[in-house]
Amino acid sequence: MAACEVCGNDYDKAFTVTLEGAKHTFDSFECAIHALAPLCSHCGCRIVGHGVERGAAMFCCEHCAEHADR
Ligand SMILES: [Zn+2]
Ligand SMILES: [Zn+2]
Repeated sequence: MAACEVCGNDYDKAFTVTLEGAKHTFDSFECAIHALAPLCSHCGCRIVGHGVERGAAMFCCEHCAEHADR
């Protein structure tokens, strides 16, 4: 049993995600995305898919990455 670090829900099917050496505990993917998913540098939405990396910036899609190039 572990408590979700986002909503505090104590859930027997909680899972952990290790990101850059730090362990995070969540009760759902929704909470994991809320806490860990990067933000698109152009439109600000959460990047849940693969995303597009341009240098140090992350984007949700090609379209946003193109915008930032200009
Ligand atoms: Zn939660
Ligand atoms: Zn975007």
